[in-house]
Amino acid sequence: MKLKICGMKYPKNITEVGSLLPDYMGFIFWEKSARYFDGIMPDLPKSIQKVGVFVNASSSEILEKIEKYNLQAIQLHGQESVEFCLDLKNKIGTKIKIIKAFSVNEDFDFAILKPFEDVCDYYLFDTKGKLPGGNGITFDWKVLKNYPSTKPFFLSGGIGLDEISALNEILKTNLPIHAIDINSKFEIEPGLKNVQLCRDVALQRPYEIKNKNMSYNVNEKGYYGEFGGAYIPEMLYPNVEELRQQYLKITAEPEFQAEFNALLKDYVGRPTPLYFAKRLSEKYNTKIYLKREDLCHTGAHKINNTIGQILLAKRLGKTRIIAETGAGQHGVATATVCALMGLQCIVYMGEIDIKRQAPNVARMKMLGAEVRPALSGSRTLKDATNEAIRDWINNPVDTYYIIGSAVGPHPYPDMVSRFQSVISQEIKAQLLEKEGRENPDYVIACVGGGSNAAGAYYHFLDDEKVTLIAVEAAGLGVDSGESAATSVLGKIGIIHGSKTLLMQTPDGQITEPYSISAGLDYPGVGPMHANLFATGRAKFISITDDQAMQWGLQLSKMEGIIPAIESAHAFAVLDEMKFKPEDIVVINLSGRGDKDLNTYIDYFKL
Ligand SMILES: *Cc1c(COP(=O)(O)O)cnc(C)c1O
Repeated sequence: MKLKICGMKYPKNITEVGSLLPDYMGFIFWEKSARYFDGIMPDLPKSIQKVGVFVNASSSEILEKIEKYNLQAIQLHGQESVEFCLDLKNKIGTKIKIIKAFSVNEDFDFAILKPFEDVCDYYLFDTKGKLPGGNGITFDWKVLKNYPSTKPFFLSGGIGLDEISALNEILKTNLPIHAIDINSKFEIEPGLKNVQLCRDVALQRPYEIKNKNMSYNVNEKGYYGEFGGAYIPEMLYPNVEELRQQYLKITAEPEFQAEFNALLKDYVGRPTPLYFAKRLSEKYNTKIYLKREDLCHTGAHKINNTIGQILLAKRLGKTRIIAETGAGQHGVATATVCALMGLQCIVYMGEIDIKRQAPNVARMKMLGAEVRPALSGSRTLKDATNEAIRDWINNPVDTYYIIGSAVGPHPYPDMVSRFQSVISQEIKAQLLEKEGRENPDYVIACVGGGSNAAGAYYHFLDDEKVTLIAVEAAGLGVDSGESAATSVLGKIGIIHGSKTLLMQTPDGQITEPYSISAGLDYPGVGPMHANLFATGRAKFISITDDQAMQWGLQLSKMEGIIPAIESAHAFAVLDEMKFKPEDIVVINLSGRGDKDLNTYIDYFKL
C-alpha cells in the first residue's frame, strides 16, 4: 500500500516531509484552497511522485504546472468530464498518470465510473464535504463494498492514525487499494504538516496486500513488493549503479558460471548432502531432511556468496576488497576468498566485537586480512557498516564492498540470494532422487539478514504448495526488550540502504537487537523477507535463546551433529508445529557449531 501526503505548501516543510519518502506528495493548484501552492518547489528524492491537484482547471493551465513543477501525476478533483480527461490524456502522454477523484457517500452510484475506466489511471475516493479535498470528514469504508471495478484507487477523506489502524480490516478484502491519501489530520495548520505524525504513518502504514499474480522475487526496480530499493548517499551512487548494471550480465556469462561452479564443487565442497535424519523423523513422526550447509568450507553457507562476489569483483577490475563483520563469520568467509584470489582484504569490525570474537579475528589475520576497528557509536556491527561505507565512498574506483547477507541497497539482496540459491537448486535435484518429487512440503530456515533462508527458499518462492517457515531469534523473549524478532517488533524503515522491516524507536532510532547467536543479532531483515512476511507467503516463528540452546544439545545427541546456534533455532519449529507423517520437511542447517563451543560450554557448564 502506497502513501500520498497531500496539501503541501511550505518549502521547508515539504523538504522535511519528503525525507520520510512517501510515494506521492500532493500540491493543490486551486486558488480557493487554504493549501493553494504557489511557491518554490524544493528538490525532492527521486522516488517521490509529485501530484498536481486541480479543480475544473483548463488543460493549458494543467500543462503549464506540469512543465513548471515537473509533476508525475495529475489529480482531477472537480467535475471534469470523460471528454476532458481523454483530451488531457492525449496531451500529456501515458507517462504522466491521471487520478480522477470522486466524492462518495452511501448513495454514490458506482456506475458513474464506467466511462472513466479508459481515460484515467487511478480513482481517488473522497468524502463529500463543502469544498473538494482536505475537509477532514472521515470516510465510511463500507460504501466501497459495491466497488465494481478492478482499477486501483487512492483512499482519501479525513484519514487519521485511528482510521489507519482500522484500515487493516478493509485490507483483508480484495479491494484494489493503491494508496492512502492523508492531509488535514496530519497538520498543525492548513498546509503545514506535523512531521512527527507523518513519520508515524510513514512507518506504520499497512502492508501491501498480495495480488495473486505477484512474484515473490525482486522486480526490475529492485523491490520486493514495497520493500527494497537503493536508498543511498549521492556519493555511493556510481558504485552501486555500476554493480546494478553489471551483475546480471557478468554472472550469466558461461565463463563466470564455469568458474563459480568449479569453486563451489572443489573448494567449498558442494553439493552439500541432503541428509535424511532418521532418528529425528521417528521422534517427530514426519520425514525430516537436513540440508548440510554446515559441511561447507569455513563451516557455513556464507562462503557461497563470498565466492560469487569475489569473482564479480575481479571481473569489474577491482583490486581491493572491503567487508564489515559482526561476529566475524562473514569476515572470515571474505578473508578466505581474498586469500584464494590474492586480493587485498580489509574487514571493519566494531571494537567491542573484536574483543568478543578473538578466534575469528585471529583467523582473518592468518588469512592475510587487515582487521580495522570501528571506534564510534556502540562499537558493534552497525558502526562497522558505517566505516565500510565511508571507505567505499573514499575509494570508489579500485574497491569492491562484499556484503554478507541478503541486505543492503539493490542489487545486493538479489545478488546474494542468487549466489545462495544453489542451496534450493540442489535440494530439488536431491529430493527428486530420494523421494521422486522435487518439492518438499516445508522449508525451514533461520533468518538473521536472510541469506541462508533466501537460498533455501529461492526455487520454491512462487510455488505456494511449498510452505516457507522463517525462524527469528526471540532472544530472552519477544516482550523482554532483549530480542531480535524483527517481524514482530519491526516497522518499515531504512537500514543499510534498503527499505525494509526494522526494529526502531517511535522516532526512528535503530533499537539494539539481542540474541545469544551472533548471526541472528541484527535489527532488520532483508527486503525479500520483509515482503514474505507482509504478504503472508512465509510463516514467521520466533524462538528463544533457551529453546535454541536445548536444540543444539538435542541435535548433537540424536544425530551426531553439533549445529551453529543460529541453525539450532530452525529446529525448534519441530516443537512448535505439527507435521503429517507423509510430509517432507527440509531444515536448512546453515552452519556448524565449532564457533559456538564457548557459548555451549558456558550455557551447559560442560
Ligand atoms: C551468519 C549466519 C546466519 C545468519 O545470516 P543469514 O544471512 O540470515 O543467513 C545463520 N547461520 C549461520 C551459521 C551464520 O553464520
